Amino acid sequence: MSLSEEVRRSDALALLGQLFVTLGDGPIDCTFFDCSDAVYAEVKITSWDELCSEGLLIKKTDSFYALTANGWSEGLIRTDVVSTSAFSQRIGQLAKSLKDQIKGRQKSAIMPFDDVVRFASLPAGWVFNAIDSHLISRVHGKRDASWFEGARGRVVEIPRDFGLIEVDLFADVRAENLKLMETVERMEELYTDYRCDICSAPLTTRGSWEHEYGSEEIMEYACGMTIGAPYGDTPCTQSPNFPKFEDLVLTTKYDGNMWWCFAHAKSCSIYLSNTSAKTEEEAKAEMHNRYLERAKHWKR
Ligand SMILES: [Zn+2]
Repeated sequence: MSLSEEVRRSDALALLGQLFVTLGDGPIDCTFFDCSDAVYAEVKITSWDELCSEGLLIKKTDSFYALTANGWSEGLIRTDVVSTSAFSQRIGQLAKSLKDQIKGRQKSAIMPFDDVVRFASLPAGWVFNAIDSHLISRVHGKRDASWFEGARGRVVEIPRDFGLIEVDLFADVRAENLKLMETVERMEELYTDYRCDICSAPLTTRGSWEHEYGSEEIMEYACGMTIGAPYGDTPCTQSPNFPKFEDLVLTTKYDGNMWWCFAHAKSCSIYLSNTSAKTEEEAKAEMHNRYLERAKHWKR
């Protein structure tokens, strides 16, 4: 964020705080702020626009603005009202009176907003703002009351499970995925050779073998690439070093009963088991098929 953007944002948030304090316990839906008012003379017009574009303020006429439900709850947080004991007491009082309305019921309670205000014994404007912004859900993460079928400011619906903690059904799955991702990242860090550097096939075997001068590490990948094997390295099937069929040396042998075909690559080590058939041509053709199978590219 550039400096000017930062300044613009902090100016806008200062305005939000000022509007929130001015609102007091008034309802957000019919408390308007006139940007041409002398008290806002110092405020830049861009701050008003900024709050509108963030959905915290709504423009009613050329110079009149009103806070949105989000603007109100954001104001609560920005001015740190939420950490005061007066606020805790109010929200507790509202939650208790709403909870009392559904005690022992099997269904949600639908009641006029005026009754909700009366039972809660709290300023009507504040109760309106609290319900409009789903304050209980936002602050405590619990099932909250809301306007009944869009009857904003007139009828309130209190769900049967009001006050229960809202369960995040997918939290476990997300946590599990995160753990898995971290494990993979850690593995990839630990094993820089974790994947074939040509086709990204994963490492399938990692081991070592002893020879007369010590031991050698061997790594085998799902694409068939092998590094460090006793009989020599095998390239990835997508590597230009992977031999073409024409590059293989084929030898054939007749044992009096069958024709046998043996394949051998000069440039590298690839293993193709012997083939046999009634005729020499068939044995070679069989070897060709075996090669095509072996030369297939690895797919994830
Ligand atoms: Zn590969």
